[in-house]
Amino acid sequence: QTRFVSPVNRDEDTEEPSVRPGYLQDFVGQEAVKDALMVAITSAIKRKKPLDHILFSGPPGLGKTTLAHIIAQEMSAGIETTSGPVLDRPGDLAALLTPLKDHDILFIDEIHRLSPVIEEILYPAMEDYTIDLLIGEGPSARTIQLPLERYTLVGATTRLGLLGSPFRDRFGIILRLDLYDPADLQIIITRSAGILAIPITHEGAEEIAMRSRGTPRIANRLLRRVYDYAIVRGSGSIDKEIANSALFALGVDKKGLDVLDRRILEVIAHDFGGGPVGLKTISISVGEEPRTIEDVYEPYLIRIGFLKRTPQGRIITPSGSEHMSSVITQNFSS
Ligand code: ADP
Repeated sequence: QTRFVSPVNRDEDTEEPSVRPGYLQDFVGQEAVKDALMVAITSAIKRKKPLDHILFSGPPGLGKTTLAHIIAQEMSAGIETTSGPVLDRPGDLAALLTPLKDHDILFIDEIHRLSPVIEEILYPAMEDYTIDLLIGEGPSARTIQLPLERYTLVGATTRLGLLGSPFRDRFGIILRLDLYDPADLQIIITRSAGILAIPITHEGAEEIAMRSRGTPRIANRLLRRVYDYAIVRGSGSIDKEIANSALFALGVDKKGLDVLDRRILEVIAHDFGGGPVGLKTISISVGEEPRTIEDVYEPYLIRIGFLKRTPQGRIITPSGSEHMSSVITQNFSS
């Protein structure tokens, strides 16, 4: 499904020139996270010790991968990247770990999706910098122990709760990224526009920022699409009016919600009298995976106070209902 405001990475997001910040000082917002990293990195450099293993959690598109690369830069170290679902054979993990040098970073995205077998191998690799490998099969099989350099594991997850506590406890630093507020997103958009040589006014950036679902990846993507619109339908620069009509044409409403967000709210409001409705029921009604609804759609709907999770299920709030009736009059429902 090609959802326009999906925070999940898409090819177009990796277009050159890169708007991805390279150092901690270019990384906008998330002050507490940056501060914790700055202290840990500075201390590690001073003591000439490797960084503790670090775990980032939070919704997609908030900068977890970016921070892993920044940490490597700040430590003047190398970085290898992989992801939980891809890493399914012990040999693959060994092949990633053994070449790492002192202070190098191994970044594992979606670390909650690692298989239990790989997790088991990671434990000693994290604690004692050794890896036990089973060589051969049957009676002739034997285990060999390989020493590793003092690397740092950086994990990212959208679901901290899915990580068992023995695994979580092996990370010295656990940091949570929250959705960004519009002021930070506006700075990110202005910075990206500068790098991409896109002319944009203060109000134009503000308009996109307010409709980016608290997510830098979406902000950067909307910036590019609004720019396309400005080139074709406008004068080639982005102001408030162009941003507005472009976002309208893209189906992004005043709050940054797209068709599927509105569909979720609509199901709760109209089909179930405001809720509570179970996640599975919503999932079937809107035709989207429960996990995606929970990780990708709900955090923002909750953040802006349109939806609540209760033990009985999801409910729509009065401001959520109000927004839905106003977008319907704007002819914005799917
Ligand atoms: P995640 O790994 O959490 O899914 P990424 O690190 O891939 O997210 O970030 C998505 C994009 O958003 C990056 O390419 C980067 O350009 C941008 N980005 C994320 N966080 C920031 C930030 N704090 N400041 C500037 N740009 C950011």
